[in-house]
Amino acid sequence: MQHTETLSVHAGRTAFRALGVHAPPLDFSTTYPIHDLDGATASLDAFVQGHLVPEEPIYARLFNPTVARFEEGIAQLEGASASVAFGSGMAALTACLLATRPNGTHVVAVRPLYGSSDHLLGSSLLGMSVTFTNPEGVCEALRPDTALVVIETPANPTVSLVDIADIVVQAGSVPVLVDATFATPILLRPIDFGATFVLHSATKFIGGHGDVMAGVVSTSDFWAEKLRQVRIMTGVLLHPMGAYLLHRGLPTLPIRVERAQASAQILAARLHTHDSVKAVFYPGLPDGDPKGLIGRQMKGPGSILSFEVPDHEAAARVLKRVRLITPAVSLGSTDTLIQHPAGLTHRVVSEEGKTAGHISEGLLRLSVGLEQVEDLWADIEQALATP
Ligand SMILES: *Cc1c(COP(=O)(O)O)cnc(C)c1O
Repeated sequence: MQHTETLSVHAGRTAFRALGVHAPPLDFSTTYPIHDLDGATASLDAFVQGHLVPEEPIYARLFNPTVARFEEGIAQLEGASASVAFGSGMAALTACLLATRPNGTHVVAVRPLYGSSDHLLGSSLLGMSVTFTNPEGVCEALRPDTALVVIETPANPTVSLVDIADIVVQAGSVPVLVDATFATPILLRPIDFGATFVLHSATKFIGGHGDVMAGVVSTSDFWAEKLRQVRIMTGVLLHPMGAYLLHRGLPTLPIRVERAQASAQILAARLHTHDSVKAVFYPGLPDGDPKGLIGRQMKGPGSILSFEVPDHEAAARVLKRVRLITPAVSLGSTDTLIQHPAGLTHRVVSEEGKTAGHISEGLLRLSVGLEQVEDLWADIEQALATP
């Protein structure tokens, strides 16, 4: 197999030579001319079953070649049979929940999770019930009507790592969905450890420039068909412009991930010894990876870290004082972002969920970007200085 860097440059571009192009062609058509009615009818029947018929696309809710090329690229990076792209990470999670519903209306979810994922699962919006548990409690939480097990690694916002292979064993015949948004396919390929679905909010690292909202799920051919059926029926599409930008960014994904990770490692170590910081959560620190998953499951600790200052007031002061770092939600962008999980991304999580996820009022989450690390440290130091 090719190395990740090489694969990232060429993923989803195999047809370019035959097409005679160098950049991904961008197709904005919403409809396509039909010259052969019976052929188009057969194509429509195949699309409704979740199959792909690129030569007879019919209508943009059924198929778009720009989106399909991005999907092919992600599937190659994940080592998956297929990928299906959506208009956001939440749309992707919704599609997985709807696709697995025929097998039961119960879901087991390991906390902590991204705030909106926790919110969606905990609500009865999609007609399912959820049991929230910890990584050790999955087997015990299963029921005969459990359709899906949902985990996130590294988990948001405390960056704790979950052992995917262990969860897959506990889940038995129930499919496991891994939200690997924080890791990217560069650092973690959950399919290699037995996951059935790998979900990314492509809004984050895969987009990488803070200008596209998207989600993508990589899985088997069987489940990809089910997900495409949901996408066709509900219309939770990714626009081709978004797919184009995401595909454009894939070649630089490995170097973006590695550079940001190198800076995060330095910042985590310095925050760890800073007087104003109570705790740092980062799997690259000596105590940050108790199960020894870096090396075994994940190539490196990534570029997201969280740290705790004494209280809400101290956290708010840091957000007010940063000058270079952008105080904003989201993550995985070229610029470094800082935010307050309890007040923002995890606001919608119940008190019980916040406690289980160590989401305190003094916790700040930092998504390290591509700026020079000493400039970042200078900004963090002045923001943390005693008032
Ligand atoms: C942002 C995020 C999501 C949701 O994705 P959107 O693109 O915002 O809908 C899901 N999971 C994780 C881990 C995220 O960070």
